[in-house]
Amino acid sequence: MPFQVPEIFSPQVDNSRRDGQSVISDAQWEANALFRLSDEIIAGRRLTAEEARAILRSPDTAILEILAAAYRVRRHFHGMKMRLNMLINAKSGLCGEDCAYCSQSKVSTASIAKYPLLDEEVILAGAAAAVERKASTYCIAIAGRSPNPRELDRLCRTISQIKERFPLKVCLSPGLLTLAQAEALKKAGLDRVNHNLNTGRRFYREICSTHTYEDRLATLRAARQAGLELCCGGIIGMGESEDDLIDFILALGELRPESVPINFLIPIPGTPLEGRPAPSPVHCLKVLCLIRFATPTSDLRIAAGREVHLGPLQPLGLFVANSIFVGDYLTTKGQPPEEDYRMIAALGFEIEQVVHGESAAVCEDTLPTPAAQ
Ligand code: SF4
Repeated sequence: MPFQVPEIFSPQVDNSRRDGQSVISDAQWEANALFRLSDEIIAGRRLTAEEARAILRSPDTAILEILAAAYRVRRHFHGMKMRLNMLINAKSGLCGEDCAYCSQSKVSTASIAKYPLLDEEVILAGAAAAVERKASTYCIAIAGRSPNPRELDRLCRTISQIKERFPLKVCLSPGLLTLAQAEALKKAGLDRVNHNLNTGRRFYREICSTHTYEDRLATLRAARQAGLELCCGGIIGMGESEDDLIDFILALGELRPESVPINFLIPIPGTPLEGRPAPSPVHCLKVLCLIRFATPTSDLRIAAGREVHLGPLQPLGLFVANSIFVGDYLTTKGQPPEEDYRMIAALGFEIEQVVHGESAAVCEDTLPTPAAQ
């Protein structure tokens, strides 16, 4: 059955197919409606829940048209640039929280490395490796509910050192933060805080009981108030309903974080989500497209699960996302950086250069105006 593009995509949708006189194919009709959606998103309109639902329910045969529309938005705001991030797990395991997806939680029996906050020299060596791997952002993650005062001091000192020595943006994933903690990190030179919404508001209580969705929003507010950029995304495939997923996507659209990491659940043995069925690669791509429509100006990063869930469709994801992690994830392996560089080059994308500690500007309109097409 052809994908029925609902009227809501645009009041000017071409209805000529409906009277049987159409001279254009289903695919062309779908593409026209989706391109109008992308034009309207570029012009500043917000994605609606109805549009998100229609795209999630579209047949898999419509995926190329959906990808093409999302690619227009990607090219408009991010050109053909790719931003690489490198992650270090600076404190692993030993966490008292019970996030169901996480191998480091108190309820996980997964076999992972467990260690306290790494020494400054080790974290600095990671920063050097990030530069060598062409990353523009160095992401430091620490397991736990929130850093204690000693850990916060050490993190502040280490971040100052990184900013002094390396041309990198630094993003810290610290757990929950108060305003005072966020301000101390900002003063030390931190650029960005990672704190994910993870999923929709209703579903959050089903994946974590030791803190709430509201706690997470409070941390994001504190980080914003302290003048820090936000990195905020989530995890797809934890058992969320369609409504939960749409709620999550639209919440990201409201928040407009500078950076949006999207993970596809790796159901690690020993975690409560062990054995969860994998989302299909086409579903993963549709979600990426929806997040591109919801957060058009944000850096959209395909994070953990890229290799596992997108598999051979990975390159298609880069037409939507403008950022990936290079190297490994928190407790799972990524593909070798050389494979990422080859994929990026083969697709015609260009790794973004780092200029004096700041990423080079990439927001440029590289498409002709709709009228000129
Ligand atoms: S996600 Fe963070 S807070 Fe939750 S269990 Fe894992 S390390 Fe702890």
